Amino acid sequence: MATIATLSRMAALLLAAACCRAAEEPTQDEVMARAAVIYADRLGEFVVDRDPRFTARVRGVADVLIAQARRDYPETAGWAWEVHTTDDARQNADCMAGGKILVSQQYVERLGLGDAELAMLLAHEIEHAALHHNLLEYQAALRLEPAWAQRPFAELEYAVDNDAGLMARLADLNYGQEQEADREGLRLAWRAGWPAAQLAGYFRKMVRASDWPHGSKPDYPSPSQRRRDAQALALLLQKNHVQPGD
Ligand SMILES: [Zn+2]
Repeated sequence: MATIATLSRMAALLLAAACCRAAEEPTQDEVMARAAVIYADRLGEFVVDRDPRFTARVRGVADVLIAQARRDYPETAGWAWEVHTTDDARQNADCMAGGKILVSQQYVERLGLGDAELAMLLAHEIEHAALHHNLLEYQAALRLEPAWAQRPFAELEYAVDNDAGLMARLADLNYGQEQEADREGLRLAWRAGWPAAQLAGYFRKMVRASDWPHGSKPDYPSPSQRRRDAQALALLLQKNHVQPGD
């Protein structure tokens, strides 16, 4: 693997190259290439993998989920998956397009997550990537505001997270993507072998740690809504399905 310094240099070069390319019709390959560049940049910005024991624990859980994702989404078998941890308090966890995972040790420790709950957190993020949520968001933005097709892709990439007008128009999509990542993430981790009720326990801890547990936003279901949905799905899986491996 290239060093972080090398990747950051590459990132600067590629970002410069991307500045003037029009958004038009982004492809999954392009979204993944951009994610790899931004991920490398983020690794250069944070202290990463400071605690080897925590990093090994996260990778142990992630490896099981990635193996399951490779079975369920064959395209992801060809991805250059990466898993790193950070001390950055602004970060919770995410998986960028193409399988680039970054997890905050502070977040996992603040919530006191056991392995099944950590699996739920990671599986949600893995589903965002496996289901091409970024690509679908760019495509939706281009449908809603076709003028973006003439502007640099890097600007659209920034706008979907920062332009209030565009974000308001994408809110329904984002709300649905959060629910889908919860639902499919729970199913993925359950197929990988974790008990459904333990996976749903992640949302209980999320509600407990939240300052605003019952407040849904236009683009984001509330923690308590997510907990209810996860508990209902866990019950359904336990009642009606035999867990693979049992
Ligand atoms: Zn999410």
